[in-house]
Amino acid sequence: MTDEPDPHPDQPAHYPRLPTDTDNGLLLMISGPSGVGKTTITRGVERSIADSVFSVSCTTRAKTDADVEAVDYHFLSNDEFQKLIDKDAFLEWADVFGKKYGTRKKWVDEQLSRGRLVILEIDVEGAKQVKAKVPDAFGLFILPPSEDELLRRLKSRKRESDELIAKRFAEAKREIAEAKACNAYDKFLVNENLEEAIEEAIMIVKAARLAHAMHSDPNRTQ
Ligand code: 5GP
Repeated sequence: MTDEPDPHPDQPAHYPRLPTDTDNGLLLMISGPSGVGKTTITRGVERSIADSVFSVSCTTRAKTDADVEAVDYHFLSNDEFQKLIDKDAFLEWADVFGKKYGTRKKWVDEQLSRGRLVILEIDVEGAKQVKAKVPDAFGLFILPPSEDELLRRLKSRKRESDELIAKRFAEAKREIAEAKACNAYDKFLVNENLEEAIEEAIMIVKAARLAHAMHSDPNRTQ
């Protein structure tokens, strides 16, 4: 992974223009508690919007058999992650369940400058940091239909111990309360039925992008 910090952070970075570049960049943050279906919804949005790109985060958590390096995450040691923090290479980073997760600033900047829909799948703490730095970033938070249903889904994944499920459930309730209380999210979407939630998320994102483009250029008609 190459992610050197910008040597001239005070000047706007210049990326050679590509034929596919547009002025339609939007930073999209998708969050939600574990078990809510957010990864499936995120990948659904990514697949259906042609110029979208998914930000592969850096993490210090252990790679599982289901993970693919550089597709799901860049798996880093604590030292490697700390070096990137020291170099101010992250747009945001947070501690989630005792492991660090962070979004590479330079990569996001370049994709936005190319007019892409840049998708971050991050936690509430990270979303708050992004919204403070990039106020026109769009935040979408995925909610379970009810707390009981969330607990049922967490149990049905059968990949964690009862103790860990209880921890994730408590954390989920705390995260939902915090998401509603902070101003990082523009929309809350209830995932009652996965297929419908994906379709709704795609519509929300397309509308947000149009609104963002109109706001950036009021003379624009489409
Ligand atoms: P998991 O390890 O289960 O893939 O992710 C755990 C949590 O970390 C999820 O809530 C996920 O959204 C969050 N996460 C993943 N990448 C990032 C990131 O770059 N920044 C922040 N703040 N959270 C992240």
